[in-house]
Amino acid sequence: MTLTGIGVTVRQAGPDDAVGGVLPRWVALPESVEEIAALLRACAEQDLAVVPVGGGTKLHWGAPPERCDVLLDMCCMNAVLEHAAGDLVVRVQAGATMDALAAELAGKGQELALDVPSGAGSTVGGTLAAGLPGPRAFRFGTARDLLIGITVVLADGTVARSGGKVVKNVAGYDLGKLFAGSYGSLGVIAEAVFRLHPLPAERRWVVAEPALDEVPAIALALAASQAEPSAVEVDRPDPDGPLVLAALVEGTAAEARARALRDVVGGGEVIGQPPSWWGRVPSGEVLAEVRFPPTATGAVLDAAAGAGTALRGSPVAGRLLLATDGQLAVSALRKTVEDAGGRVVVLATPDSGVDRWGQISGLALMRRVKERFDPGRRMSPGRFVGGI
Ligand SMILES: Cc1cc2nc3c(=O)[nH]c(=O)nc-3n(C[C@H](O)[C@H](O)[C@H](O)COP(=O)(O)OP(=O)(O)OC[C@H]3O[C@@H](n4cnc5c(N)ncnc54)[C@H](O)[C@@H]3O)c2cc1C
Repeated sequence: MTLTGIGVTVRQAGPDDAVGGVLPRWVALPESVEEIAALLRACAEQDLAVVPVGGGTKLHWGAPPERCDVLLDMCCMNAVLEHAAGDLVVRVQAGATMDALAAELAGKGQELALDVPSGAGSTVGGTLAAGLPGPRAFRFGTARDLLIGITVVLADGTVARSGGKVVKNVAGYDLGKLFAGSYGSLGVIAEAVFRLHPLPAERRWVVAEPALDEVPAIALALAASQAEPSAVEVDRPDPDGPLVLAALVEGTAAEARARALRDVVGGGEVIGQPPSWWGRVPSGEVLAEVRFPPTATGAVLDAAAGAGTALRGSPVAGRLLLATDGQLAVSALRKTVEDAGGRVVVLATPDSGVDRWGQISGLALMRRVKERFDPGRRMSPGRFVGGI
């Protein structure tokens, strides 16, 4: 087996290249969409399994791959290809870091309205494929919602595009929706086209310490407030400690609107910088994401508090992250959350025996999509829901 002679830089893998403990044989460093396609064609001919990697910050999320021959490193595809500032649109290669993209856009007074923390090296492709929503998803949606076009390379080397700069559609499929949150299991995201927003003139945060059982009513009132918060988040790093609630307002008259929100919360202070935890994933060996409808906020917060973990997330968007270095009683938590209409996904855990995904509605459909895009099961096999 060989990957030489296809015009793609390939090196032998080392211990640092392991994905969930599975060591690939090679690391490939494509520099163009065509090179990704050539590489995936060669892998298809030799039945080699491929795991794409961006910044590598979340390779421990999802199950370890069943097999991994080639780590496809997107680091050389890191250009902002086209920033049409007048149209509030950007086209970017998937290996570009979110920091580099943010710097480029800020130069023209614009932003991609996600809250990915700076400094980690997270890439555009990894952010899309990992699919985690941030605080401002409440107002602007997730990376998937801000995506208006995507170029992907499928397991057989086919290049497919949808939306934005349309060249050719894969008939009947919304590629952006499918590839967002796909953990590299359907193919390689090569380029993305995003809708942008102007950088807000001002930002203010209202920060308060309500009791846990006051949060559902406060969240409802904040979500309905005419002061229009862009985000409302809670944070409780210590399961026995106080809970902090923070609400963000952006744009004109931010100070006055923040004071109006403070009245809704019933106290607190207005500050000009985010709390240190804002938009950050809480740390812990075990990390679970809970999604729930607004009606279930009280039940889910109680269940999360009972789980004895750090908790952080949005009571208005119905999303919490629970983190611990100890044990998380996943089955009990999942039962309570599912009874309330929500669901629990374990994003990261060192315990291979844990059911990461729980019951997934639509799993049969997802299997059919996997079969259509990657019938040979070469793209990140076993990483995703239901062993996809
Ligand atoms: C609002 C927000 C806030 C966040 N806050 C934090 C935080 O505080 N701390 C933190 O650690 N993380 C945080 N994250 C998550 C983190 O930013 C993403 O998980 C990260 O962007 C992953 O990027 P990466 O390049 O490191 O991906 P990687 O770790 O390289 O890959 C992640 C997954 O995507 C797949 N993948 C990577 N690139 C591609 C590609 N081109 N095509 C197909 N599949 C691919 C990989 O196979 C893997 O399954 C946040 C994310 C958001 C959106």
